[in-house]
Amino acid sequence: MAYDDQNIFAKILRGEIPCTKLYEDEYALAFPDINPHAPVHILVIPKGPYLSIEDFGLRASPEEITGFYRAVSKVAAENGLSTDGFRAIANTGANGGQEVPHFHVHLLGGKPIGPMVSG
Ligand code: AMP
Repeated sequence: MAYDDQNIFAKILRGEIPCTKLYEDEYALAFPDINPHAPVHILVIPKGPYLSIEDFGLRASPEEITGFYRAVSKVAAENGLSTDGFRAIANTGANGGQEVPHFHVHLLGGKPIGPMVSG
C-alpha cells in the first residue's frame, strides 16, 4: 500500500487541519487524541511519510528513528506519564485496527489502562 498524503495526519503536518501542539521538533509532532480513551491520550507522529510502525522501521533513516523515539520519551515525561507509567500503542493495518494510515504512537495514561487487549 502506498502512502496517501491526503490522510488526516499528513494534513495536520502541513497545517491544513489544526491541532493543539504538545511537542514538535525536526522529527516528530505530538497532539492530544480528539477522542481520548484515558485522562491523558496523546498521539506522537513522525514528520516523514510512513504508513505504519512496520513501514517506519523498514524505511526511515537511523536519525529519523532515533529522533522519533526520543520525542516519544520526552512527550511521555513532559505530560506526567513517567512516574505512574503508561501504555504505548501502535495500531497497524486492518487487524490492528489502524484508522489513520500515517504511523502514530498512542500514549495513554493518567489512570490504570486495564487489560492489554479487550474484545
Ligand atoms: P488508529 O486507530 O490507531 O489509526 O487511531 C487514530 C486516532 O486518531 C484515533 O484515536 C482518533 O481519535 C484520532 N484522530 C483522528 N483525527 C484526529 C484529529 N484531527 N486530531 C486528533 N486526533 C485525531
